[in-house]
Amino acid sequence: MTTVTSDLLRTLAYVDGAWAESDDGATFTVTNPATGETVADVPRMGATETRRAIEAAARALPAWRAKPAKERARILRRLAASMADRADDLAALMVLEQGKPLAEARAEIDYALSFYDWFAGEATRLDGAVLPSPWPDKRIMVTREPVGVTVGITPWNFPSAMVTRKSAPALAVGCTMVLKPAEQTPLSALAIAALAEEAGIPPGVFSVVTGDAQDAPVIGGEMTSNPLVRKLGFTGSTEVGKLLMRQCAEHVTKLSLELGGNAPFIVFDDADLDVAVSSALVAKYRNSGQTCISANRMFVQSGIYDAFLDRFASAVRALKVGDGFTDGVQVGPLIDRPAIDKVEAHVADAVEQGAEVVTGAERIDGQFYRPSILTGVTASMRMSSEETFGPVAAISRFDAEEDAIAAANATPYGLAAYFMTTDLGRTWRVGEALEYGILGVNTGLISTEVAPFGGVKESGIGREGSSFGVDDWVELKYWAVGGIEGAG
Ligand code: NAP
Repeated sequence: MTTVTSDLLRTLAYVDGAWAESDDGATFTVTNPATGETVADVPRMGATETRRAIEAAARALPAWRAKPAKERARILRRLAASMADRADDLAALMVLEQGKPLAEARAEIDYALSFYDWFAGEATRLDGAVLPSPWPDKRIMVTREPVGVTVGITPWNFPSAMVTRKSAPALAVGCTMVLKPAEQTPLSALAIAALAEEAGIPPGVFSVVTGDAQDAPVIGGEMTSNPLVRKLGFTGSTEVGKLLMRQCAEHVTKLSLELGGNAPFIVFDDADLDVAVSSALVAKYRNSGQTCISANRMFVQSGIYDAFLDRFASAVRALKVGDGFTDGVQVGPLIDRPAIDKVEAHVADAVEQGAEVVTGAERIDGQFYRPSILTGVTASMRMSSEETFGPVAAISRFDAEEDAIAAANATPYGLAAYFMTTDLGRTWRVGEALEYGILGVNTGLISTEVAPFGGVKESGIGREGSSFGVDDWVELKYWAVGGIEGAG
C-alpha cells in the first residue's frame, strides 16, 4: 500500500459536519493508476446516507443564507488560503489517485482554489434591480436569492477543480451542497471537506458522500428524487447527464450540466507554426488527453500540413511518459483499464479504416499509452464521433476554410473549439461560424475562473466560473410593491 502521512488523506465521508462510515460499514478501494497499488478504502454509501446529508443541508440552509455575504466570503477566502498553504499535499494526493503529473496537479490546485476567491468576491456584489414601473402607485424590484439545497456530482479527470467550480458559487451565494465525487478520485474532495471544516464552514453546509460506480445511480437517484433538493450541478458524460436530466424532471429540479466534448483543433495555412504546435501539445496531451476540452479532432490545411506535422511529431516523440511523481514527466497513466481499452479500440478502428500511424499507437506498460499521432482520419472512424479521452492526436487534411468549419460543427457536441490563424478576417468569420461555447484562438489553454466555462448543444447547460457563473445558483424574485399613496 502507498504510504501517505498527510492529515488530508481522509478515508471517511463527511456528512453533517462529522466524519462518517457507511451505515453497513462497506468500503471500496481507491487505487493509484500508475502502480495499481491501493491508496485507501473509502465508505460505500447509498440512499440513506445521502438523504441524511440532504436533510442536514436543509437544516443548515436558513442560517447560512442569512449570513451577510461578506461573512460567507470571509470563510471561503479562508478556505482558499488554506488550500494554497496545503497545495503540495493536495497535489500529491491528486497524483496518487488520478495519476496526472505533479506539476499539472499543482496547477489544478491553484485553479481549484481560485473559485473560492473569485466567488467570495462575486457574492458580495450580488445585486438586484429596481425597474421603471408602468403603474403610478407601484414599484418593481428584482432580488437574487440562493436556490436553496443543492447537490453536485463530479468526475475523476479534475478531482479538485470540478468540486470547487460547483461548491464555490453555491456556498458563496448562500446555498448548501451535498457532493458526490467520482469513484476513482474521492480523496481530493474529502481533503477539501477537511479544509472546509477547518475554515469554519458550519455542519451541513457542505457534505461529501462517497460511493463506487454501483452506488452512483443510488446516490444520484436520491439526489434527484428528494424534493428538498432544488438544484443539481453535474460534470461528467453526456449519457449520464441525460439520465439525470430525465430524473430531475420529476420535481423540475434546476440543473446545470457540463458534459462531454468533441473539440476540433483547426490549423489554417496562415497560422504561426510555433503557436500552433505548442497549443496543440497542450490541448491534446494535458492530463493524458483526458479532458472534456481535449482536441479530439485536428484539421490541418494543406499549405501548412507537412511543416506542422513534422514539428508536431518531433515534439510528441519527445514527451516524457511515466508516474506523475517522476521529475519531468509530462504524460501520466490513463485512469483505469476501461479507459486504455477504449483508446486501443479507437486506434484499431481507425487503422483498420485506413488511418496511418505517425508515432505511438501502443500501450507501454500497465495503464500507460504512448503519445500518438494518426493521420488520414475520416468522419466514419470512432475517434471522430466519440471522445477518445487519451493521448492520441487524430489528424485530417483540408483545403477550404468552409470545409473545416462544416467538419468542426458536424457533431452533436459543442464545448470547446480551437483554431490557429493570424488573419483577422478569418478569426471573426471562423469564430462566429463555430457552434461552441468556448473558443481557443491561437491558444490551447483556456480555463480560468474569470471566464464562463460551458458548452452548447449536447455538451451542456449553464456556465461555471466568471460573473455569469453566479446565475446558475440564484433565483430571481420579482416584487410588485403597491399601495404607494400620492405618488406621481
Ligand atoms: P461519468 O461516468 O458520467 O461520471 C461522472 C460522475 O457521475 C461520477 O461521479 C459518477 O460516479 C457519476 N455517475 C455515473 N452514473 C451515475 C448515475 N446513474 N447517477 C448519478 N451519478 C452517476 O463520466 P466520467 O467518465 O467519470 O467523466 C468523463 C466525462 O466527463 C467525459 O465525457 C468528459 O468530457 C466529461 N467532463 C466534462 C467537463 C465539462 O466541464 N464539460 C469537465 C470534465 C469532464 P462514479 O464515478 O461513482 O461512477
